[in-house]
Amino acid sequence: MFNDDQSKQKIASLGGITTRLKNILSWPEFRIFWLILFLLLLTFGVSAVFLTPKWLLLIQGGLVLGIISSAFAGMYLSAKSERENIIERNELRNIIFGLEDSLVVYDTDFKILFFNPAAEKFFNVKAAEILGNQFQPQYADDPKLKLLAQVIFPSLAPAVISRSGAGEYPQVVDVSFSDPKVLNLRIITSPVSDEGGRLLGFMKIVHNRTRELSAIRSKSEFLTIASHQLRSPATDVSWALETLNADDSIKDTSKKILEAAFKASSELLRIIEDLLSVAKIEEGRFGYDFKQTNIVEFITGILGQISPAARKVGVKIYLDTPKVPLPEVVVDAQKLTLALKNILENGVRYNVENGEVVVKVEKVENQPYLEVSVRDTGIGIPRGDMDKLFNKFFRSELAIKAQTEGSGLGLYITRSVIQAHGGRIWAESEENRGSVFHFTLPMDTNLIPRHEISAEDI
Ligand code: ADP
Repeated sequence: MFNDDQSKQKIASLGGITTRLKNILSWPEFRIFWLILFLLLLTFGVSAVFLTPKWLLLIQGGLVLGIISSAFAGMYLSAKSERENIIERNELRNIIFGLEDSLVVYDTDFKILFFNPAAEKFFNVKAAEILGNQFQPQYADDPKLKLLAQVIFPSLAPAVISRSGAGEYPQVVDVSFSDPKVLNLRIITSPVSDEGGRLLGFMKIVHNRTRELSAIRSKSEFLTIASHQLRSPATDVSWALETLNADDSIKDTSKKILEAAFKASSELLRIIEDLLSVAKIEEGRFGYDFKQTNIVEFITGILGQISPAARKVGVKIYLDTPKVPLPEVVVDAQKLTLALKNILENGVRYNVENGEVVVKVEKVENQPYLEVSVRDTGIGIPRGDMDKLFNKFFRSELAIKAQTEGSGLGLYITRSVIQAHGGRIWAESEENRGSVFHFTLPMDTNLIPRHEISAEDI
C-alpha cells in the first residue's frame, strides 16, 4: 500500500503543476481574439457590398483600429500567459530543486534524463556524469554507482519489500542495506507519459527513512523493556494484596483499603499488559496462530466468562445468532478473545444500570465475511469523538466522567487484531442512547494478510 504522506504530497503537487500548465495553454482569451478578428472581417465584407464609399471608408478605418487594438490585446494576453508560464515553470523548478528526497527520471531505455541536487548529494554522483547515460544493471559492480544501480533496479538490493500490488502505480518498495552502513530507503516509482498516454519513462523518488526507522525502533524498544520491567513487580504487589484481602482476621476498615489497593494494582497490570501488546503490535511481532474456529461456540465461551461480572453491575448480555449454521472462520482464538473481550467489557463498563449488551453474528450479504456486532444501551460516544475512537490513548470526556479507569489502548489493540485477521472494525453511537461496535472476519483464508503490519511499514 502507498503510505508515505510526504511523498504522496510531492507527487500530487507535481501533478497539479502539469494540469495548471495545460490549462494555461488552452486559455479562452486566445479563442476570443480569433473570434473578434473573424467578426471584423465578416462585417467588412458585408459593408463593402451594401454601403456607399464614404461610409465604407469610415467603417474601414474603424475596423482597422479594431483589428490593431485586438492584436495588441492578443499580444498582451500572450505575454501575460508567457509570464504565468515562467512563474509556473519556476515554481516546478523550485519544488524539484528544493526536494530533500532524491529524484531520478529516466526513459524506457533507462537513459537518465534528470537527477536533482538531492540525488547528487545522496548518491555522491554529479548529474553531469550520468545524464544521457543508459543505465545498466552491471553498473552495480562499480562501487561509485552501486547504490544508484540498486535503486534503479531494486531487485539488485539485498533486502526488498514491495508495498504496492503487482503492476500498480505508483510502485512503492522499501529497500534496506546493512553494509557498509545501515540504510533504509523507500523508492516510489511513477510512469511519465505524454499527453496521448504514450509511456516516455519513469520518475523515482527516493526517500531516506534510516533515521525515522531508528527512532521508531528505539521508541518501541523502550516501551517493551519498560513494560517488561514493570510487569513482574506489579504482579507481585497484586498477588500480595489479593492474599491479604482473603485473610479473614483483617479488620473491615483495613479490608476496604486493601480492596481498593487490589483493584488499583489490577488496573496497573492491565495497563502494563496493554502497553506490552502495543509495543509488540508496532514491531509487527504480536504473533498470530490461526486455526479453524466455530464462531458461535467461540463467542458463547467468552460470554460465559464475562456475563457473571456484568450481572454484578446490573448489565445483561444476550447472544443473537442466525437459525442456519454459519461457516467456520480461521482466527487466532487468543488474540480475537482479547479484541472481543475489550469490546464487550467496554459495553458493560460504559453502560447504565439495568442496561443490556446484545451480541449478534451474521453472514454479510453477497460478501465472503461474517459480521459480529455488539450493541449496548450505555452512555454513548459524542459525535466529535467518533473519528478518534481507535487512536492510541484516546478516552472521551464522557467516558472519563463515567469511568475514571481506562488506558485508551483497548480499541487500538482491538482494531489491529481485527485488521490482522483481514477484517474491518467500525462503530456507531448516539450520546446517552448507546453504541454499536461492528467487526467483520473473512470466510476466505486468502483475505487474511500474510504478514503483520508494523509501524515501520506505514
Ligand atoms: P478504555 O476503555 O480503557 O478507555 P478503549 O480503547 O477500550 O480504552 O476505549 C477508548 C474510548 O472509547 C473509551 O475511553 C471511551 O471513551 C470510548 N468507548 C469505547 N467503547 C465504548 C462504549 N461501548 N460506549 C461508550 N464509549 C466507549
